[in-house]
Formats: sequence, structure tokens, C-alpha cells
Amino acid sequence: MKSLLILFIFLSASGLFAQPKMAAITIDDLPFVRMGLFSNKELSQKTDKLLTALQTQNAPATGFVNMSKVYNAGELDSARYNLLRQWPGKGFDLGNHTFSHYDYNEVSCSDFVNDIEKNEALVNGMLKEYQKTMVYFRHPYLHRGNSEAKADSLADYLRGRNYTEAPVTIDNAEWIFAAAYDSVLRTNDQKIIAQVGNEYIHYMESKLRYYEGQSEKLFGRNIRQILLIHANSLNSDYMGDLLQMFVKNGYSFISLQTALQDGSYKTPDLYYRNGGISWLDRWALTQGKSRDFFKNEPGCPVSVMKLAQVESE
Ligand SMILES: [Zn+2]
Repeated sequence: MKSLLILFIFLSASGLFAQPKMAAITIDDLPFVRMGLFSNKELSQKTDKLLTALQTQNAPATGFVNMSKVYNAGELDSARYNLLRQWPGKGFDLGNHTFSHYDYNEVSCSDFVNDIEKNEALVNGMLKEYQKTMVYFRHPYLHRGNSEAKADSLADYLRGRNYTEAPVTIDNAEWIFAAAYDSVLRTNDQKIIAQVGNEYIHYMESKLRYYEGQSEKLFGRNIRQILLIHANSLNSDYMGDLLQMFVKNGYSFISLQTALQDGSYKTPDLYYRNGGISWLDRWALTQGKSRDFFKNEPGCPVSVMKLAQVESE
């Protein structure tokens, strides 16, 4: 009996009885960020590298599309269309991120809804070929509405149109690292390029641990996390390292659908300010948590912000 108890204590301490950690990967601004910097061939290779890294780790990512990047003045850009087709072609799901990447804080609900439907017709038209339709909606800038009435109008519309909102728990400054990375890529200085890449993984690990802690404080457990990143050069080159970092921290990868089965996603969000923030932060603010609750959030290094600013769109 005593030896059984010792075995139990050993197994508990070793983490074998611990709740498995799970994360869903979501990737925004498809087909690709800053497409003008690269040739069609480069974009195709970068997308292939990104998706191959996800497949290698069995990570079922969902990509969120802005069709304005594929249509120029109403004309289809066939190279960019084919770039987007690589995603469903390799079995990845696509979601709606509006046609124009509108900021809901800046436009009316009816303009925003028209933009969602414009995107919907084009993306679903493409997905027909794969017998799929979009299920998820991701708010550009994570703006759900900066007043209760505006947030409710959009949420009601999305529900009525059979969209599931795609929350984010691990929000981060990856987009700043990505701008810095595109900027240093042009220098061809391999040392600096690798420096930004490695710093990115280090930063994302600190962010992952921060949000694990926030989840523990709010729910007493690590909920199924949802990561937001973008389709860019940085993730094309570092997706393998990023996923390995998650694995090293005890994670396995799940679909957005599986993540949303976690009961935590039913928590009310009554945050109606201008910021685009993590759902963990939204829930915490809704519950009236004080400033202290949010302390020690890792920030983006100043050196990376400086490199990102020299980048011209
Ligand atoms: Zn976006």
C-alpha cells in the first residue's frame, strides 16, 4: 500500500497525471502580409514552408482571409488566388476576417457587415472546390465593438449568419517582430536575421507562460489556449521553432473547434473599450480585476520596435 502511495506521489510530481496542455493555432491576414515585398514564387515558397511546418507537427491551424489582398480594383490576381488555395489544398480551414480588414471601431455596423459578406461570397466561392465553407469569424484588430450596443449588434449578426467568433487568448506583438524581420531580411545579414528570429521565439515563450498564469488565476487551470499570429515571412521561417517551443512546454495542438469546447469560452465579455486585447484580459476586466492582476506582462523589446519602424509598407 505504501509503495502504491509513493508511486502515486511520484507520478503526480512527474506531471503524468497533470491536465494535458492544448493550444489551437490561428493565422490572420491571409494570403500573406506585405506581399509587395516578394515575388509570386517567393510567396508561394514561403506559404509552403509555413504550412509544411504545421503539418510536420500535426497542428491543425485555421487561417483568416482578407480577399481585398487577392482582388485589385475588382480584378482577380490569379497568383494571389493560388497562394490562398494552398491552404485548403493542404487541408487547412479558412475563416472570415472581412474583405478590407476594416476596423470596427471606425465604421458603422452596416458597412462592416457588408464587408463581411463581400469576403464571404469570394472565400466560400473558392472553398466550394474543397466542399467546405467558412465557420469562424475573426475581428480585425480584435475589435468586437467599443460600445455595448455596437458589440451586441455585431455578435447578433454573426450568430444569425452561423458564424462562430474566433477568440484569442495568447495575444502578442508578433506583428511587430514580423515587420522587424522583413526589414532585416533585406540586409541579407544572416546574423541579425537569426537574432530577430531567436528573440521572437524567446518572447513568445514568455508570452505563453504569462497567459498560462493569467488562465490559472482566472480559472484555476490552464484552459485550451488560442494563439494569434499572422501569415508572414517570420512565421514561414520560424513556425517549426515556434511549435517546438510549445511542445517543449508540454503542449499538443488542437483545432479551433476542439479549443472552443472548453467551457471557459462561455465566460461573459463585457469589455467595450477601444483596445484589441486577449479574451483572458477581456474576461478579467469584465470581472473587475485590478491593475495588479495584469502585472508582469512581457513587452516587445525596444530594439525590435526600432527595427520595425524602419520598415516601409
Ligand atoms: Zn488582421
